[in-house]
Amino acid sequence: MNCVMCGGNAIAVTERKRARYRHETVEVSREVFRCKSCQENFLTPAQAHSYVCVVKDEIRKKHGLLPPRRIAEIRTKLGLSQHELEELLGIGPKVVVRWESGKVIQGGVQDSLLRLLEREPRILEDLRQIQQRRSSEQKEYASSHCHAADPMACAV
Ligand SMILES: [Zn+2]
Repeated sequence: MNCVMCGGNAIAVTERKRARYRHETVEVSREVFRCKSCQENFLTPAQAHSYVCVVKDEIRKKHGLLPPRRIAEIRTKLGLSQHELEELLGIGPKVVVRWESGKVIQGGVQDSLLRLLEREPRILEDLRQIQQRRSSEQKEYASSHCHAADPMACAV
C-alpha cells in the first residue's frame, strides 16, 4: 500500500485508540496503514468500517447489551419479522433492522424486553394485545383531532 500523503511504503499496523461514541469514550484496537517514510496513518474504507463496528461492539460490551446477532436470533426464535418486532415494541420503522445490522445500539429497556421475550415467549401474546390497544387508541385520537378529509393523513 502506498502512502496517501507522500507515496511512500505503508504497512498495516495494529494500534490502541481511544474512541468517542456519543458521550462515551472506549479504548479499542484497530488496524491502520502507517507510512514508513512520513509516519502518516490512514485507513482504507474497509478498515474505517471495521473500526466503527469495533467501537460499537465495545460500547455494547461495556453496558452488557446484546450483540446484533443475538437480537436476530431471539427474533427468529419468536417467529417475528423485523417489522413485526418494531410494531410490538412500539418503536419506529427500521429500528430493529438497524439493531441487527449493528448500525444502532438498543437502549437498556429494549434490551431487557428482548431478553424477557426470550425467557418467556408467552408474553408475546400480552405484547400483541398491548400493541392492538395502543393502535386503537391512536386511531381514536386521530379521528377526534383531525378535520381533514382523510383522517389517516394527519394520523402520522
Ligand atoms: Zn507517507
